[in-house]
Amino acid sequence: MLIRCWGSRGSIPVSGKEYLKYGGDTTCIEIMTDSGARLIIDTGSGIRELGKKMIDENQTRFHIFFTHFHWDHIMGFPFFRPIYKEGTQIDFYGCVFTKETIEEMSSKTMVSPNFPVNFNEVKAEFKYTDLCSGTFQIDSMTVTPIYLSHPNKGLGYKFQENGKTFVFITDNELRYKQPGGLDYKDYMEFAKGADLLYHDSEYIEEEYPEKITWGHSIYTDSLKLALEANVKNFGLFHHNQNRTDDEIDAMVENCRAHIRKINSSTTCFAVAKGNVVEL
Ligand SMILES: [Zn+2]
Ligand SMILES: [Zn+2]
Repeated sequence: MLIRCWGSRGSIPVSGKEYLKYGGDTTCIEIMTDSGARLIIDTGSGIRELGKKMIDENQTRFHIFFTHFHWDHIMGFPFFRPIYKEGTQIDFYGCVFTKETIEEMSSKTMVSPNFPVNFNEVKAEFKYTDLCSGTFQIDSMTVTPIYLSHPNKGLGYKFQENGKTFVFITDNELRYKQPGGLDYKDYMEFAKGADLLYHDSEYIEEEYPEKITWGHSIYTDSLKLALEANVKNFGLFHHNQNRTDDEIDAMVENCRAHIRKINSSTTCFAVAKGNVVEL
């Protein structure tokens, strides 16, 4: 599988010279399976540019997995150009923890008076599948969800294909168990032996006391999880909106220093827009 990041920023898109290296777009990950299927995780602002590329490549078939419906994870949906193209087919997957459906949640990004184009002007065909537990198969790719520890709940995902594993867990608070969330050891078991793990790394230790219960993790807790789960490659994800490139570089350097100190073979980086990892 090929994993490409189109947005790794948390909470709100940012721009400016201090954010050029890691990018300002919010969560959107593209996964191309070995058989060529296009999976997308979340429709944050990063999906706008992915949409342009998909139009250029004449792609019309997509599988979109939602982690949850906080604004930064759905705000790009109306700007994903393939939805206005006749013949586009999109399968949506996710678990809604309210009475609403995935359709209602995604269409809320286009509700008047907040957006000028009406949801029924969309030309694509949609199919909605509740994926709250169990596993799901798309060609040779097996997808397994896990409940997040996050306000209003959500899902992380494990993607497995041809012996390779990618685990994606963002908006997850490892030090505090939110209602519906799981324990640290459950996330550790879920990520065990993964070739690649992207995990929420929103805070540094000093910031956390004021942000307990906000649903995010300290990056050193995420590193600890990656090391205890013995993952091969760990990516810091969901960068705080105020975190500059230099500050993220310093976080990565701290992770690498710790990894060297304990003689681990795990590698670590911060996920930037444009990152491509092939498993
Ligand atoms: Zn978020
Ligand atoms: Zn969230």
